[in-house]
Amino acid sequence: MKTAKKNTIQILTYCWLAFAASATGGESASIGADEALSRLLNGDKRFIAGKSEEPQGAALIERRHDLAKDQKPFAVILSCSDSRVPPELVFDATLGDIFVVRTAGEVVDEIVVGSIEYAIEHLGTHLIVVLGHQRCGAVSAAVSGAKETGDIPDLLKAILPAVEETKGQSGDHIDNAVRANARDIAKRLQSTGPIITPRVQSGELKIVAAYYSLDTGQVELLK
Ligand SMILES: [Zn+2]
Repeated sequence: MKTAKKNTIQILTYCWLAFAASATGGESASIGADEALSRLLNGDKRFIAGKSEEPQGAALIERRHDLAKDQKPFAVILSCSDSRVPPELVFDATLGDIFVVRTAGEVVDEIVVGSIEYAIEHLGTHLIVVLGHQRCGAVSAAVSGAKETGDIPDLLKAILPAVEETKGQSGDHIDNAVRANARDIAKRLQSTGPIITPRVQSGELKIVAAYYSLDTGQVELLK
């Protein structure tokens, strides 16, 4: 083989390998919000059934290597920090799939918004899921008006609008407040400024609120 031709083939091979590596970690750049949401909900179905399809062992190590220099998560999950609601497990997701931001009661401040904006602006993610959950301790504390110390009162204060909003509604106050809190946060995120708002308006980015049942493992989208 002539050297020039051989070099060309080598270069093409390297380019392909680089592309393939990037595609493994970067394929989600082209994943739209609807497909991303569908992937998450299908992952939740597998989680409920106890039938994870995510890589384990050698396949997981390979995935880790593929992602070492790049990430293109297909969804941002803003969820409660509750130990029973780890988004990677709930959505049967693996390394590089989802960009997760967690706070108790999934409350937002400017640091949380900045973290989410980073994923939208720099990682090309088109979906944000705000995930509340059944029997949330933070929401329960806000509903009960618990006297807390440290910085916990600031956290609970952020949940109070949802508590007020659901006062007097039929059904369980805590559960209603959990749902209202997730909805309110999703709505608030829509108007957080130059990165998120225009993308929501153009339809490039979707923000959905969801509720996770501790009893069943099911994620329900909130209207
Ligand atoms: Zn919680």
